[in-house]
Parts: sequence; C-alpha cells; structure tokens
Amino acid sequence: MVEPKSRTDLRRLARIMREYLQLDHVLYFPIVELLDVMTELFDDFNYEIVEDCVLSKKVHADTDIRTGHIRIKESVYEGACRGEGRDRMTIAHEIGHYFTLCFCGFKLTRNFGNARVITFRDPEWQAKCFAGELMVPAHLVKGMDQNEIAEQCGVSYDAACVQYKHLSKE
Ligand SMILES: [Zn+2]
Repeated sequence: MVEPKSRTDLRRLARIMREYLQLDHVLYFPIVELLDVMTELFDDFNYEIVEDCVLSKKVHADTDIRTGHIRIKESVYEGACRGEGRDRMTIAHEIGHYFTLCFCGFKLTRNFGNARVITFRDPEWQAKCFAGELMVPAHLVKGMDQNEIAEQCGVSYDAACVQYKHLSKE
C-alpha cells in the first residue's frame, strides 16, 4: 500500500507538472517527449524500449518501483509516437507509478494477510487516476463532450468517457 492520495491530490500533481513544463494550456500532452525530459530531470528515472516478447502478452509496459526503471514494449512506444490514445495512456500510467511511488515518497508497506487495499491506497488506482488527470486536464476540457476530449487530448474514447464522467459529477 502507498500513501493515500485522492483524485484531487493527483490532479494537483498533474497540474504542477504541466505548469513546470509550461504545458498548462496544451490539450495534447506530449507524453512520449516527457520520457526524455524526465530522464534529464531525475537522476533515478530511466526507461527502456523492449521487444514485445520481453514482457508478457497482457503487459504493455511496467515500472520497477524500486529503481524507477520503466520498460515499454516497442509496439506500444511506436503506437504512442503515432498518437494512439491507448498507448499514450500506457506511458502516462507508468510515469504515474514513478511519481506516486518513487518521487512522492516511497511508502510501500508489506500488506500481509488479506486486508483489502482501499481504492485510494491502491498503487494501480493511483497510477490510473494520475494518468487520466495528466492526459485530460480538467481545467481545459470544461464544456467538451467525450468525442472532443478523445480527439483533442489524444486519448481513447473509453478514457475520455472515464474522465468525462468524473468531471460531470463534480
Ligand atoms: Zn500499473
């Protein structure tokens, strides 16, 4: 389990990152380029593009939370470069793991027994939430529908629907 972080916290983190990179008004986040920027910014961050067969079939990319090392399947990296929404989100998700686990205080504790991981303490939830907030900036998409969000932000229609649903509840 990791430190609790709400959607509001993760949205703030995504916003701080956008501001720092002077991308606060950019709808289409340059996620592939961010990999190289992060390599420059953080000593312990690095990523590797691996042949698809290196990772199991269901895995698109992974992050070693001890070292901050991200591995991305070649086909996913190429897809992201072409602007495939799902592949762009995969990269954002792994960067989310890096930020929420490595950069924002490494607070992993072993969870013995069967205690259920509460949603907001679940690292997978955190990475997913961060990725959604980074790729679909709440402050820029007000008034847009799901199709506009998918198109303008370069995310899949499904991802656009998820963010749209959260925003319309607020
Ligand atoms: Zn994950």
